[in-house]
Amino acid sequence: MATKKSTPPNTISKIRALRKQEISVEALTEGIFKGDKAILAKAITLLESTKPEHFEKANAVIEKCLSKPNNSIRLGITGVPGVGKSSFIETLGTTLTGMGKKVAVLAVDPTSSLSKGSILGDKTRMQALSKDPNAFIRPSPSGSSLGGVAQKTRESIMLCEAAGYDVILVETVGVGQSEIAVHSMVDFFLLLKLSGAGDELQGIKRGIMEMADAIAINKADGSNLEQAKLAETEFSRALHLYPPKKNGWVPKVMRCSATENTGIKEIWEVVEQFVAQNKESGHFEKNRKTQNKNWFLQTVDEHIKQFFHQKESFKKEQSKMLKAIENNKISPFYAAKLLLDKITKEL
Ligand code: GDP
Repeated sequence: MATKKSTPPNTISKIRALRKQEISVEALTEGIFKGDKAILAKAITLLESTKPEHFEKANAVIEKCLSKPNNSIRLGITGVPGVGKSSFIETLGTTLTGMGKKVAVLAVDPTSSLSKGSILGDKTRMQALSKDPNAFIRPSPSGSSLGGVAQKTRESIMLCEAAGYDVILVETVGVGQSEIAVHSMVDFFLLLKLSGAGDELQGIKRGIMEMADAIAINKADGSNLEQAKLAETEFSRALHLYPPKKNGWVPKVMRCSATENTGIKEIWEVVEQFVAQNKESGHFEKNRKTQNKNWFLQTVDEHIKQFFHQKESFKKEQSKMLKAIENNKISPFYAAKLLLDKITKEL
């Protein structure tokens, strides 16, 4: 984990000391409110745990954290591996801490339990930022489902905000459904792209273009600069073909170089412009409320599913129905109705 190698030694020893220690909800909350990184890390570990007793405790901490007002900006960052996400976060993050802001970096990587963390897992990533006292970096939680991983990241956002982090950067890899999950937990969604030979728009998923509030062509430096300019024009043209966003925001296309630190400040200015515009129109709050309601509905759905699937009678009846469907004895829809009728009667 990136945090292990580069976090200042006093924080590491504190995290180690806390690992086995039981801490009360009050002490955890107080530590978080004070911005104590070791306590924040401990609380996140707790909410990532699968033990039922940890679940209760983590929920109690989250409830208390919700009461703390904050003025955070949540920024989602996506792009294929190698596009420069960690370099970008390193440069943007240090720029922001240089402005006096506190920055938390989280990740949603549903492949992390298989690959032992493909993002934020490498010790060499974000070296400067991980030493920065005003930055907090946390690798992706592991989990068997994207829904589970995303939920934990979302709860971690709340804890980081209660700990006083002004900017929450949520990184995700450009694979699978993880972008949709991150998009649904952030205020602003940034897509990092590379310019390359040939058709710039080839291979880009339509849905991601639609979600993006800005596209930044990274590695716009050296011999790549001219191509990056061309890509910028091409993406701007393509974005015009999409219907306007409900909040009235017109997505921006920009160029940057994460390693040479060019264009990064400008991207942040666009984020601030977006936030100001959306706060003024009321869309900022509205979007967060809609996100909260969706998370609630999604969580309820997941719990209902889990509740039924754990029931022995459900499993038995389900396999009976599957067999009947295989033998063409019943239609799938009627089988589903019979199964649910039978199980709900048992409740
Ligand atoms: P990630 O997989 O998306 O997190 O990408 P990384 O940040 O690990 O970057 C992948 C490679 O691209 C590394 O070798 C970086 O040094 C390089 N890189 C990242 N950003 C830039 C940039 O702006 N310009 C150039 N020339 N190289 C970059």
